[in-house]
Amino acid sequence: MHYETKILHEGGDKDPYTGALSIPIYPASTYHQKNVDVRQEFDYSRSGNPTRAALERTLAVLENGSHGYAFSSGVAAITAAITAVCSAGDHIVATRDCYGGTYRLLTKYLSRLGITHTFVDTTDIAATEHAITSATKVLFLESPSNPLLRIIDFTAMTALAKKHSLITMLDNTFLSPYLFRPLDIGVDVSIHSATKFLGGHSDLIAGAVVTKNGEIAAQIYAVQNGTGNMLSPENSWLLLRGIKTLRARMEMQCAGAMELATWLSKQSWVTKVYYPGLADHPGHETIRREAKGFGAVVSFTADTIERTRAILQHVRIWTVAVSLGGVESILSYPAKMSHAAMPKDERDALGISDTLIRLSIGLEHTEDLIDDLKSSAEIKS
Ligand SMILES: *Cc1c(COP(=O)(O)O)cnc(C)c1O
Repeated sequence: MHYETKILHEGGDKDPYTGALSIPIYPASTYHQKNVDVRQEFDYSRSGNPTRAALERTLAVLENGSHGYAFSSGVAAITAAITAVCSAGDHIVATRDCYGGTYRLLTKYLSRLGITHTFVDTTDIAATEHAITSATKVLFLESPSNPLLRIIDFTAMTALAKKHSLITMLDNTFLSPYLFRPLDIGVDVSIHSATKFLGGHSDLIAGAVVTKNGEIAAQIYAVQNGTGNMLSPENSWLLLRGIKTLRARMEMQCAGAMELATWLSKQSWVTKVYYPGLADHPGHETIRREAKGFGAVVSFTADTIERTRAILQHVRIWTVAVSLGGVESILSYPAKMSHAAMPKDERDALGISDTLIRLSIGLEHTEDLIDDLKSSAEIKS
């Protein structure tokens, strides 16, 4: 069976109890135990719920894994994956330009529990190897990175992890499993903010973790059940519904992103475009080799701060907001949104300037998105 068919028909396509084509929402907290001597599949909904179980089977199919777990947010998923395998004294090597919430989790919370970290430019293999110590347990990767869409050489990174017996985790939110399946190339744990492309409709917060390592899977389940950070049946249903159109959305949103990036690169007021689909992007060849597409997020810098402000103020179709991956296009301003907590000199060092804008392309007609950007950019304040 092809992947596109599998993601609709393996995992969560029909309710095993009624045949319903849409998996019902089972809100039950508890389940009648017919015979207390026989363990049944469901006994309490923190430990297991039929709606969440259907979603979790689907997540495993999406990532070509054997075990999927659904969490109350992407950050909860990252926390569960890391704490499933790390204890006090363990060390993590992580992508320097990782998601802000991952940065906060490592620096403010896990460090307090004795789990230490080193941030490194994971596009630099030698620097990454240099950061590994005898205490290193996990290589935590994120790519394409946010907001500059830097691409890691995934194959080189998994080889490096194998050499040092590290567990590799990859935050695969930006590409989605439709475009890239990290477990296929030897990553141990794939993680998502399902809030973004998996959900796809800007209407829920959710997270996912998938692995095909049975031992790690058991540890992740122990954290999910033991700390109670699982996804609700209602949101599990909503996420299952969103995933059904993942293929269609990703195909169209990627096509729109390519059109937009190409158009931006020809505008005199645009000083730089960051999109791995463009041939001059340093990660272009890598992502072309490893993934089915380049994603639907494009960043660019404008020539002046005034023009950046004009765009932020005057766009009408683009929603000025944080987040990404929905069917409505979103325009974000990293300097005041995702990276506002970072001091300006550190932002500048990473290349996150005050004229940088990040776009998440949705399903509107590309011409309307372009016209909106173009006319906003031309308004003089
Ligand atoms: C949004 C995001 C997260 C966090 O997910 P939440 O669902 O907001 O908790 C993690 N990683 C990446 C790359 C993200 O974009």
